[in-house]
Amino acid sequence: MSAFGKIIIVLFFCGFMLDANAQRDLSEKQEYSFVFMTDLHIKHDPFVLSEFSRLIDTINSMKVDFVLTGGDQVFDVMRGNVKKGDSLFTLYKEQIAKIKVPVHSCMGNHELFGIYPESDIDSTHSDYKYGMFKRYLGNPYYSFNHKGWHFIVLNVLDVANKKYIGRVDEKQIAWLKQDLAQVDAGTPVVVAAHLPFVSSFYQVYPPKDGSDKDRPWISNRNEILQLFKQHQLKMVLQGHTHWLEDVNVENRTHFITGGAVAGRPSWRGNNHGQRGFLLFSVKGDTFSWKFIEYGSKKSAVN
Ligand SMILES: [Zn+2]
Repeated sequence: MSAFGKIIIVLFFCGFMLDANAQRDLSEKQEYSFVFMTDLHIKHDPFVLSEFSRLIDTINSMKVDFVLTGGDQVFDVMRGNVKKGDSLFTLYKEQIAKIKVPVHSCMGNHELFGIYPESDIDSTHSDYKYGMFKRYLGNPYYSFNHKGWHFIVLNVLDVANKKYIGRVDEKQIAWLKQDLAQVDAGTPVVVAAHLPFVSSFYQVYPPKDGSDKDRPWISNRNEILQLFKQHQLKMVLQGHTHWLEDVNVENRTHFITGGAVAGRPSWRGNNHGQRGFLLFSVKGDTFSWKFIEYGSKKSAVN
């Protein structure tokens, strides 16, 4: 056989191999697991750090592929103070470095630096709003692929009148459209976001200030969800409310709020929810989850 003929055969074989790999990615046999943990509220407190060590040991014992968060990693930086903010983000990074698999973090309201009126910096500071999160954890919205699934981490937080609000800005919407244009219609998609897109929380606990319980957490949520109409949006993983639920909408998309690593109320007892996180098992394009209570039964002193 000529050298040219051999090259043709090798190229054909490589083409076949690539095709087989692509097929395998979408086959029913792909199995993996991951952790979704939200509302960690880490702070310099011996009790909180001892609970974190239990959390990390529990996750490391599970042999998951990766960890995804739902935001509010640190508690908190909304009132500014670069020194305190630096120490909290450094603490968070030191802790997640002990987790043996990649950790993908999500922007929460408690990571919005210096947004409150009593803050010691203003909006011209480089760490303002998203700046400190970016400095430590990178862009607050991004996507990645894992074993045939597409994961999108959104930043649903913005600021108006020195308060945080729920909104996805125009720049991120343009990015999201581009990102989804690359995703095949048959690929299972997961979104993680701090504020809930859909939740039963206010039906169970109506707002004490009398505000409208049907008002969406994210003002342009319908516009965002519309972008997924042609895609297999399997689940939206949410945080913020320290509330555990799985709202299955039309047996198509599960809106799952993941309780809280810090429990509810945060680090002060377990009256409304034990400290925990979600363990997901994925097989093909199906999934199941369970809530893992990792914490001790004790409470922080303050
Ligand atoms: Zn929050």
